[in-house]
Amino acid sequence: MTRRVFRYVPFTIEQDASAEPEYEIRCVSGDETECGARSGTYSHPAPVEEWQRRHTQETRHRRYHRHFRDYAVMRPTAGSSEPGEPARAGGGAG
Ligand SMILES: [Zn+2]
Repeated sequence: MTRRVFRYVPFTIEQDASAEPEYEIRCVSGDETECGARSGTYSHPAPVEEWQRRHTQETRHRRYHRHFRDYAVMRPTAGSSEPGEPARAGGGAG
């Protein structure tokens, strides 16, 4: 996890553990027009990679554009706890 701390802004930027990240891949193989086939969006990279392997096996396409999106939260560094925000343990659901 990447964590950046700024000198004069009392926040750290953290990945929001309460929201699932999004993985998706699009096939961009093709000479004049790209294939454009999409894996669909998943919260884990594994099914995306499985789709990619299967697509390559079926079509011999080898070039893909990968998307990864997640949510980031600004966390104040002054106080260690925020009122009203439930504590979340970073466990893996699913
Ligand atoms: Zn393709």
